[in-house]
Amino acid sequence: MKLLIANGYFIDPTQGLNGGKNLLIENGRVAGLLSHSEGVPEGAEVFDATGLIVAPGFIDLHAHLREPGQEYRETIETGAAAAIAGGWTSVCAMPNTDPVNDNPAVTRFIIEQAERAGLANVFPIGAITKSSQGAELAEMGEMKRAGVVAVSDDGRPVPSAGVMRRAMEYARGFDLPVVDHCEDRSLTAGGVMHEGNWSLRLGLRGHPALAEEMDALRDIALAELTGARVHLAHVSTRGALEAVRRAKERDLNVTCEVAPQHWSLEDEAVRDYDTNTKMCPPLRSHDHVEAIIEALRDGTIDAIATDHAPHHADEKALEYDQAPFGITGLETAIGLAFERLVHNGVISLERLVELCSVNPARIFKLEGRGTLRPGAWGDVTLLDPELVWTFKASDSKSKSRNTPFDNWTMRGAAVATIVAGKLLYQRNEKLSAV
Ligand SMILES: [Zn+2]
Ligand SMILES: [Zn+2]
Repeated sequence: MKLLIANGYFIDPTQGLNGGKNLLIENGRVAGLLSHSEGVPEGAEVFDATGLIVAPGFIDLHAHLREPGQEYRETIETGAAAAIAGGWTSVCAMPNTDPVNDNPAVTRFIIEQAERAGLANVFPIGAITKSSQGAELAEMGEMKRAGVVAVSDDGRPVPSAGVMRRAMEYARGFDLPVVDHCEDRSLTAGGVMHEGNWSLRLGLRGHPALAEEMDALRDIALAELTGARVHLAHVSTRGALEAVRRAKERDLNVTCEVAPQHWSLEDEAVRDYDTNTKMCPPLRSHDHVEAIIEALRDGTIDAIATDHAPHHADEKALEYDQAPFGITGLETAIGLAFERLVHNGVISLERLVELCSVNPARIFKLEGRGTLRPGAWGDVTLLDPELVWTFKASDSKSKSRNTPFDNWTMRGAAVATIVAGKLLYQRNEKLSAV
């Protein structure tokens, strides 16, 4: 099986590549870059990428695929379909399923379901503690052998510094990154939005920014103590970003990601009490959004991750106080990155590819991903920076519709997704493989 991606504009920062080439994928792997004059190799199918940017496949480090146990919100198949429709060739699945992915049986189940779906690659993330209860450490070694690429108690962050220390020491022994949702719950209890002027005006309990900053500082201190690889999930505050910046200056093993909602919307968006603006961490005030933009610009932020968190419409139909936290995000992330970051000159296209592909592969050590070097997996994301399109939640491939970006028009999109040399998604044209 050979696929030639022809006439595209290739951006691959791992090879310093920025220009017109053809890419040959053979038996699922990159065979090499060819010049246009070399023509079409015998037996190769051709994907004409004229006018498109061709990048190593995008990798989402943070998604909730809900299976096993919450299939009414999402399944691995529908989540993976939403991923490829959004330009993600790989998606990392958070462990807060039911049961929690805290043992190799659940890990293997997730991998099998993903293989059965045959869409995006799915890399499971294991729990840090058993049932993510924050007490007893999960079997990280067995989960790693079964296929987890990181550990996290996302959504239910480990409250005890002592437990987190032991978790980092343990994870380090297995070379697993520890991903933390930074939130000191003693400060956020009862809060449903960012604590600030808008929470006062709306009469809603707030999450102070300090709750994220304090946990980030704790994790960074523990990263230094233990030497573990620590990755901070969906960082949303000036203080936490400043802490990461200082950690990097000191060469600590600390990385972080940001989710598109946190640069696209501010806490003012909660004013209509639309529960699709309720997420954790919450939408922040202008000053924090500016800090995120600055951290994307200066390299403090390593990765863009969606924190795709599908919920059933009935759950989100509750009062603001009662509704669950979280929004879907796989299909809007790249459009929001173009719209608010690339076209506004905050980041270059090369940096977009680093944030969505090169760095995620490096942070979770995903072998043969995040690059189009010969021998790498033939995972490719094709981008059209100028395509103007409108996101319709009703057309989403996800089972859920909980998004604040319904009917948003954006300029720039992922338009085709190739996994292991197979064209699995092309905008406006669903292929038989899906
Ligand atoms: Zn989280
Ligand atoms: Zn999450």
